[in-house]
Amino acid sequence: MLEVNDLHKAYGHHHVLRGVSLAVQPGTIHGLIGANGAGKTTLLNCLYGLESDFSGTVRDTGSGRLVRETTGLVPYEPYFYPRITGREYVEFCLQARQRPVPDLRGWNEVLELPLDQYATEYSAGMKKKLALLAALVQDFAYLILDEPFNGLDLEANMLLKELLKRLRHRGTGILLTSHILGTLTEVADEATVLVGGLVQHRYQAAEFGTLEADLLAALHGEKLGQLHKLL
Ligand code: ATP
Repeated sequence: MLEVNDLHKAYGHHHVLRGVSLAVQPGTIHGLIGANGAGKTTLLNCLYGLESDFSGTVRDTGSGRLVRETTGLVPYEPYFYPRITGREYVEFCLQARQRPVPDLRGWNEVLELPLDQYATEYSAGMKKKLALLAALVQDFAYLILDEPFNGLDLEANMLLKELLKRLRHRGTGILLTSHILGTLTEVADEATVLVGGLVQHRYQAAEFGTLEADLLAALHGEKLGQLHKLL
C-alpha cells in the first residue's frame, strides 16, 4: 500500500501539513477532501517526491520501491512544453521512464484526443485527459489524481468515473482530490478530510451519508447559524 506517516511540511514559517497520516490500499479509491489551501496538493507533492524538504515518511510498503516508480501522477495543472503534440507528450513521458511506447489507438478510442495537435492548444479538459492517458498507458500500481474531474464535461466526467471503477477492480490503488463532493463519494471507498493541514476526519463509504452535513458544520458552523436566522 501507499503509506504516508506523520507528514509535516512548512513553507518558511507557514506550517502547511501538521502530522498527516493516511494509507491507500491496492484496489481501492481514497478521496482527499479539504478547502482551498488545506494542504491537499502539498501532500500529493510530498508523497510523489516533488517536495523533499519535509519530515515523516512516505512509502510503497508492498514493493519497497520509491513511490514515484510505482505510481502515476496527474497534476492539477499538467505542464506541456510548447510545440509538443499530444502524441509526443505521451512518448516523452514513456521514454523518460525507459518504457516502450505502446499503440495508443485503444486508449484513444476511449479518450478521443487529437493526438497530432499541439498539447498547449488543447482545452483544459483535454489537457487533463492527455495527462491521464500518459499515466494509463504505463499501467502503474497506484495513481495520484489531483482534481481529475476539473474541466471535464458531463460525458468525460461519467467516462472517468467508470474508468476509475474499472482500474480499482483491476487492483490499482487510487488517491484523488476533488471539490465535487458528489462525484468523489460516488467512486471512493474511503475519504480523508484535511483541515488546516490536519486530518480532521476519516470516513468509510458507509459513512458518506453524514459527510456533507459534517463538512458544512465544521467549515461553516457560524454561517449556518446566521443562515438559520435568515431563512
Ligand atoms: P486547493 O484546493 O486550492 O488546490 P490545496 O488544499 O491543494 O488547495 P495547497 O496547494 O497544498 O492547498 O496549499 C496549502 C498552503 O500552502 C496554501 O496556504 C498555499 O499558499 C501554501 N503553499 C503551497 N505551495 C507553496 C509554495 N511553493 N510556497 C509557499 N507556500 C505554498
